[in-house]
Amino acid sequence: MSITSVIDYLSLLLRQLAAVDDDKFLISHEERVEVPDDVWATMAQLKIVQQVQYAKSIICDGCEENCVRPVVIYQANAKSPARAFIVCDVREDGGRVNVEFERLNQWLMSKRQLAEMVRELLGNSTQSVAKDVALWRLGMVDGGKHKSQVSLKFDSDVMVLAGGHKVPLMELLSFEKDALKIDLKKIKKMVNESTGFSDDVESTKARNARMLKRKNELKSQKVRNFNQQIANEENLSLATVKNAISSAEKEQNAQSTPQSSNKFKNIFPTQSSQSKN
Ligand SMILES: [Zn+2]
Repeated sequence: MSITSVIDYLSLLLRQLAAVDDDKFLISHEERVEVPDDVWATMAQLKIVQQVQYAKSIICDGCEENCVRPVVIYQANAKSPARAFIVCDVREDGGRVNVEFERLNQWLMSKRQLAEMVRELLGNSTQSVAKDVALWRLGMVDGGKHKSQVSLKFDSDVMVLAGGHKVPLMELLSFEKDALKIDLKKIKKMVNESTGFSDDVESTKARNARMLKRKNELKSQKVRNFNQQIANEENLSLATVKNAISSAEKEQNAQSTPQSSNKFKNIFPTQSSQSKN
């Protein structure tokens, strides 16, 4: 592994982050020392990596087996400074192996933190990211012609979704003059040239209402497993679809006051926006 630039290393970290099932992963001292100091300093400054508490266990370097042992820490006292050691059970002397504190350093990279960073690059300073099934919602971007939700998705790579388009995040990032930049022009173009498919999310309320409308359509067509069909169409989990429809029904009931002659009028103000199939 030879990392020469911020973009190099960022690209490596993004692939690693996309590959983990969890929302985060840890970087050990051994991995950190592979990274040039200036690149590392930038990563920390950009808060892409964040130092967390000392590792609780570590690979033993006192034996040939590379055994993984829990770390014991003695706090400093009047007689001696703080010490860290492990007890290696492979060595015949069964002895303690001292550990440099530096080796216990570890850093975290998380999907949420990355999403927050990209959200800030987009200029969405007032909202915070929201995890929605497999997507991290970064907020709305106004392309001039259209507005659209922009999201991050962790697939085989970290992807940016907007207006139904999907582009690897690394294709949109650049590092110039000590600052990370995002190609906002390209994102606005994605928003303006929306494909009209489901990534182009209006708002939760509008999306829920659209799913309820779809459910009624499917029911009238005598489709039985309408929730599952909607889940497939929307690329969402069944539970999310059920929750969304239930919210929309509650919303609809709350709005259907006696003086409203057409209770559906308020729920579906823009029926023209989504008319696939
Ligand atoms: Zn050992």
